[in-house]
Order: sequence, then C-alpha cells, then structure tokens
Amino acid sequence: MIRVVLFDLDDTLFHHRQAVRDGIAAHVATTLPDVDAAAHLDRWDALEEQHYHRYLTGELDYLGQRRARARDFMAGFGETFGTDVAAEQWFEEYLVEYVRAWALYDDALPCLRALKGSGLRLGMITNGIPSFQQPKLDTLELAAQFEHVVTSGEFGTPKPDASIFLHTCALFDVDPSEAAYIGDRLHTDAIGARGAGLTGVWLLRDRDPEPDELAEAAASGAHVIRTLAELPALVAG
Ligand SMILES: [Mg+2]
Repeated sequence: MIRVVLFDLDDTLFHHRQAVRDGIAAHVATTLPDVDAAAHLDRWDALEEQHYHRYLTGELDYLGQRRARARDFMAGFGETFGTDVAAEQWFEEYLVEYVRAWALYDDALPCLRALKGSGLRLGMITNGIPSFQQPKLDTLELAAQFEHVVTSGEFGTPKPDASIFLHTCALFDVDPSEAAYIGDRLHTDAIGARGAGLTGVWLLRDRDPEPDELAEAAASGAHVIRTLAELPALVAG
C-alpha cells in the first residue's frame, strides 16, 4: 500500500521546458536583436541537456555548466566571452527572463490536493541545488505541499542512484515499497525509483514514446501515465 508519493520538480510539476524556451527567447531578443530566437531554442535545450548532465556526473561544477552553456550558445553566433565572469553574467541575465516565465502545469496542484485529500504524504526529490530549486517551490506555492524536499546538490548524489530514493524514504520513515515516485524521465526517475524498490511512474506528457521506451518501462515494472490526473487512481491501487 502506498503511503508516500514523491515527485520530480522540473517538467513534472513545474513547466521548466517552456520557461527555458521563453527565457532564452526573451534574452536573445534583448541581446541579439537581429537574430531569430525561435531558430535557436532547440539548440539551447540541447546544450542544457549536454552540460547539465556533465554537472550531474561531476565533470563540471554548477557554475561551470552555466558557463559552458553560455559559451557554446554564443559561439553559434560567432561571439565569445572574454572572462568566466562575463559568461556567468550573461547566464544571470538569461535567468531573469527564465524566472519571469515560471509556471506550473495545470494538472499539478489539483493532483497534489487530491493525493493529500486521500491522506497521502507528499515529498520531492529533484536533481539540482537548493538555492536554485527552492525559489521555484516558494514562488509557485508548492513548498507547503511537501513534508520533505530533497535536492541532489544537498544530498550529494543525484537520481537515478538508489541512495537518494532510499534516503528520502528514510526521512518519511517508510519502506520503499510504501512509496511511489513520479517523474518525466524514464531512466532518471521511473526506472531509478524502481531500482530502489519504490513504485516508479513515468509521466510521458507531450510526446510519443520511442519504440523501445515502453518496453523498457514495462520490463522495469514502471507505470506510464500521460497526465498527473491519472496519478491519484494509480497510487490508490
Ligand atoms: Mg524532470
């Protein structure tokens, strides 16, 4: 029986991808007025994926992944930064626009309220640093929803390592079999949670799965949902 439901933040409850794209579009419009920002959004997404992964694996530190994203993006326009500080400053200016675009998915708060109404305890595990993730929770009025929020930056090891899932279950004083974890990444979230003995739920929102993804999810025992509206019934068993 599930007693605790744990969530990923970015692109599960919080519409990170849209905020990223709106944020970089606004930043480009300000700093490179002759550039068609829409043509470069996918490249910005890809650089985040590439360099944030290097941060999570320990290859870069947190500011290092920001500088790498700024440098590679601007190199596409033939621009270079003379100093690390200049690259970090450019990234900070982008973040102002990113924060301005923050929003939750429409299904986020109704889902959390429904779960709470059923007597379930709620928590969060997010791969990031507290100073970057906590303001999202505070601004978007999510913080009060969760008994425990665990960030990989504070804990020391990111998802999908089993240790961060087990640590969070211990904070709630429940067995992993009594907890479910929901996230938008199949391996990092759903299969990672399964590996630690939790119920794993893959939130596959706005795209069709690759042919082997559903087979992988099934082989791991992870559930697949298309909207958070499906979650209360799923965890009710
Ligand atoms: Mg996510």
